[in-house]
Amino acid sequence: MTELIQLEDIRTYFFVRKGWFGRVPLKAVDGVSIDIDERETVAVVGESGSGKTTLGRTAIKLLKPVSGKIIFQGEDVTNNDENIKEFRRQAQIIFQDPFTSLNPHMTIEQIINEPMIVHNIDDEEKKKRRLKALSDVRLLPSEEYLPKYPHMLSGGQRQRVGIARSLVLEPVFIVADEPVSMIDASSRVEILLLLGELQKKYSMGIMYITHDIATAKYFTHNIGVMYAGKIVENGSTLDVLNNPIHPYTSALKEAVPDPDPNNRLRFRNVIPGEPPNPIDPPPGCRFHPRCPCATEKCSKEEPALRDISKRRVACHYAEKFLK
Ligand code: SF4
Repeated sequence: MTELIQLEDIRTYFFVRKGWFGRVPLKAVDGVSIDIDERETVAVVGESGSGKTTLGRTAIKLLKPVSGKIIFQGEDVTNNDENIKEFRRQAQIIFQDPFTSLNPHMTIEQIINEPMIVHNIDDEEKKKRRLKALSDVRLLPSEEYLPKYPHMLSGGQRQRVGIARSLVLEPVFIVADEPVSMIDASSRVEILLLLGELQKKYSMGIMYITHDIATAKYFTHNIGVMYAGKIVENGSTLDVLNNPIHPYTSALKEAVPDPDPNNRLRFRNVIPGEPPNPIDPPPGCRFHPRCPCATEKCSKEEPALRDISKRRVACHYAEKFLK
């Protein structure tokens, strides 16, 4: 497969006021490298505050990294805004909240037309694309949805409109930022399977951002697990979900509730403690204050992300956790 986007040692910091005069960096993303090939889906998973949403927004240049490179289709686009309009056409985002991401005063037709107006697409082509996009997200008959307003649709239908809006520019890369976390459980799997189908149909690369590691299995090829601004495990989704090596990945997997109501242990182990403050992360391994396997070495030395068992893992004792 050909590489679509490569993020190389990306650092995205926000500078926040501390004390009377000083400003300190909040290191939301702190040295992340991850690749997405053409027609590949990669899940970026982690708890709130892990930096996953900031990483997604940096990948499509809604945020500027303080260092690192964004290589898109072989070209370094990190600081090159010459072709930003074309980049914006090719790299789209599906937002988390279908209730606030659609303008309540606009009809579905106006919402879907908006990006095409920005890109000067003629009326005939607009009509063709909006009907195709609505039909691809299974809002049928499509013509009946065009005059409706967002409040007339369910959460799942609104998210389908959000997906259709991102498809009309025929992007090659989409960041799907928690696309199912705000909709009811019955629609979630449908939307995830739909994204998988659309990825094949439109030959797109997708970065799927989620806090729910279990949903990554529905349509992603690879997974990157983030903790406190860093990738701690990255490999094929099957390998990582079936046999996690990093203690944080194992803990995320353990925290997924069992859907079987007869299982008395259905509310599984939650990870103890809180993620660290990104302004002042702990020394050594950032996960050490919460890790059940931590040693003195973990609190002093930061583990490198290294290749092991067909994946990359940042843990001093990764070999010990291999099954
Ligand atoms: Fe746990 Fe130590 Fe591995 Fe970090 S390096 S995940 S603290 S065992």
